[in-house]
Amino acid sequence: MRFGYHVKVKERLSTALDEGLAAGCDAIQIFPGPPQQWGTPPVSPDEIEEFRLKKKESGIDPVIIHSIYLVNLAAPNDSIFKRSIGSLVSTLVRADEIGAFAVVTHIGNHKGKGEEFGVRRIASAIGAVLERFQGEAMLLLETTAGSGTSIGHTFQQFGSVFSSSGFPEKLGFCLDTCHVYAAGYDLSSEEGLERTLTEIDENIGLERLRLIHLNDSASDLGSRIDRHAHIGEGRIGLDGFRRVINHPLLRDLPAILEVSYDNNGRDIQLLRSLEEK
Ligand SMILES: [Zn+2]
Ligand SMILES: [Zn+2]
Repeated sequence: MRFGYHVKVKERLSTALDEGLAAGCDAIQIFPGPPQQWGTPPVSPDEIEEFRLKKKESGIDPVIIHSIYLVNLAAPNDSIFKRSIGSLVSTLVRADEIGAFAVVTHIGNHKGKGEEFGVRRIASAIGAVLERFQGEAMLLLETTAGSGTSIGHTFQQFGSVFSSSGFPEKLGFCLDTCHVYAAGYDLSSEEGLERTLTEIDENIGLERLRLIHLNDSASDLGSRIDRHAHIGEGRIGLDGFRRVINHPLLRDLPAILEVSYDNNGRDIQLLRSLEEK
């Protein structure tokens, strides 16, 4: 499995690769700009060139871009809905510019309008995004913990988003181990992991799973509270992660950790020690 962290961009874009190398990453994830601010900041052609060169030299691959937090594809508010579509399109364009594999996004909150409304809204947003962006990068929807009115905490719900969208070729999803655990899928046990994978296959198809967010969960099974923990320090635990990363259906996927990496990349070292060659 190729492991990486979500890393900071400190000024020039290519600093993200330096951060990744220092933390022992095979892959990285970045934000396209400040995650609480609309707009994808421009990047100069020489900065893009520098990034592409350094990416090649470093061997870091894939690079993933995580959409800003303001994106809400289920937003009842038209202005937020339109801005969300625009933001994803410009982030996908950026992904192609820098040679990133995919843009991963939270899918959104229906804000009290109901699940059916939310799913329809998201499907129409995905249609609009993929009509405007016809490049290479994939659009990956991320599973959620299910707090508030968020959509995407069950694979049935995820499946209905995919079927309402017509399963476009460029659409895949990202499994966040912390989120699905908090949503009630017990990844800490062998049976729980198998049941989860079966449910994914029945509702979406395992071939649509393109990325894992590998976070342990500081909150309880089914708590619907999204609190990431370092690998082995949460409820999923080391045995749980050993099974996840060595599972024949998962082991070839890239995995990104969304925890701090000021521990010299200890999570990645730990995960590599759990890999069965
Ligand atoms: Zn995540
Ligand atoms: Zn999270």
